Amino acid sequence: MREAALDAIGFMPPDEGDALYDAARRAAEGVPGAPFVEVGSYCGRSTVWLGAAARESGTVLFAVDHHRGSEENQPGWEWHDATLVDARSGRMDTLPVFRRTIEDAGLEDVVVAVVGPSFLVARYWATPAALVFIDGGHGVEPARADYEGWARHVAPGGRLAIHDVFPDPADGGRPPYEQIYRPALASGRFEEITVAGSLRVLQRVDRP
Ligand code: SAH
Ligand code: MG
Repeated sequence: MREAALDAIGFMPPDEGDALYDAARRAAEGVPGAPFVEVGSYCGRSTVWLGAAARESGTVLFAVDHHRGSEENQPGWEWHDATLVDARSGRMDTLPVFRRTIEDAGLEDVVVAVVGPSFLVARYWATPAALVFIDGGHGVEPARADYEGWARHVAPGGRLAIHDVFPDPADGGRPPYEQIYRPALASGRFEEITVAGSLRVLQRVDRP
């Protein structure tokens, strides 16, 4: 599984993917039967780690992405990959590659793609999640909306994992730190349990 993840196009570094897998396994032990949610799947790299954890834990992963790329994935931006542009429309489309990644990893029975804007899925979402992993748009507004939309869906005792958290602006963009990580801790409803590179895993500590 780890090899399948490393073969996939994407941004999740190996050690952080391993930490994400561990966080998901522990989250499932804490909240048995509850699903995992990933916000921001791209070509499915982090999805394979989480899908493998879902399989091992007897649960499922809902992988939310509009598959049109974040701002920083668009033509002219630093993280643009021209091979992911749909020739018909000229727009980014990572869904075909995502599907192949999940197929090649043999995870189609435990990974459910949810294709659409994250805030819209969050608005109508109703199932408490053992783990919510946020790695979607990294601008101020998308990050704020993902915190607002998804933190409330972490089950009591469950985990909120956040990627690309950079307390030092020299290391990278700040919105995941300022709009997700800090508000989550400041809310008093989460405490930090794991740090691995730019991955932060928080546990929901309040009880119903
Ligand atoms: N987790 C991936 C990387 C995700 S990149 C990996 O391990 O490689 C960020 C993804 O978030 C992109 O695929 C982009 O399409 C998606 N995204 C950004 N803003 C979004 C939004 N508002 N709704 C849904 N998906 C969004
Ligand atoms: Mg990331």
